[in-house]
Amino acid sequence: MGQKKLCNICPHECDSARTLENQGFCKAPDELCVSDYMCHWGEEPAITGKNGSGTVFFTMCNMLCVYCQNYPISQSRDTICQVAIDVLAMFGSLLEKSVHNINLVSPTPYTLHLIPVLKEFKTSNPLTPVIWNSNAYEKVETLRLLEGLVDIYLPDFRYWDEETAMKYSHIPYYPKTAQKTIIEMHRQTGNLVLNDDGIAIFGTMVRLLVLPDNINRVDMILRWLWETFENDIHISLMGQYFPTYRANDYPEIDRCITQQEYDYLKGVMLALGFENGYTQRAGSSSEWTPDF
Ligand code: SF4
Repeated sequence: MGQKKLCNICPHECDSARTLENQGFCKAPDELCVSDYMCHWGEEPAITGKNGSGTVFFTMCNMLCVYCQNYPISQSRDTICQVAIDVLAMFGSLLEKSVHNINLVSPTPYTLHLIPVLKEFKTSNPLTPVIWNSNAYEKVETLRLLEGLVDIYLPDFRYWDEETAMKYSHIPYYPKTAQKTIIEMHRQTGNLVLNDDGIAIFGTMVRLLVLPDNINRVDMILRWLWETFENDIHISLMGQYFPTYRANDYPEIDRCITQQEYDYLKGVMLALGFENGYTQRAGSSSEWTPDF
């Protein structure tokens, strides 16, 4: 009998069998596990369009954010976990609703499981964009396996400082890892490209979640993005943070952001010269402004 392959696909390099007895950091099982799939309306206009985004939420995550808005599906193995025997059928039922894309949320722990699925999907649906909606805590060598299978990368870049990333998400070496990840995603796809209807069909857009008091130093992340890509990248500046899950254990993040905090970072972005992307109002999760 062949030896079971141990999981080292993300920067945690757990060497885990992903069984109940030998769980990795993410606690993901060794089978494709989906908590829900739906037509989603809350993404940026280029992703949602007028028909919605065909979103598939995978269970578990390789970042353990204390303020995670999806914590029931991202951090508890007791959560509803549909073993996705036929993910292609899920994709198919979303396409029947005329969605603009297939949007894979928190897919990183399942990268190897998804590769054959995406190969088959792309064969029969070459024009439907596949979105990799991840936290950027990924390995470049793993991401390279997705080249040609993913059309749009939507990575977060969450923290500029190592200590902040450890404190709020329990992940080492996040900033440097995210930088390498985003450079690789951009190498594969370039800047976000929209079709004549304003729908994204290819490229990379980086999401920046503003935390209270700019504790994750979005200003520094913006500076790095500008120095690295200038206007050859789309930015989504997100003002939708609200305290949930264990955020009340951390008084400094146990509140929503203010409009002033958001506007300061929007000002940094404008002053740097960014022209492509989306902004919101502080506290809004569904309103997006396409120009800034
Ligand atoms: S995907 Fe999960 S089990 Fe695999 S290396 Fe990353 S955290 Fe560990």
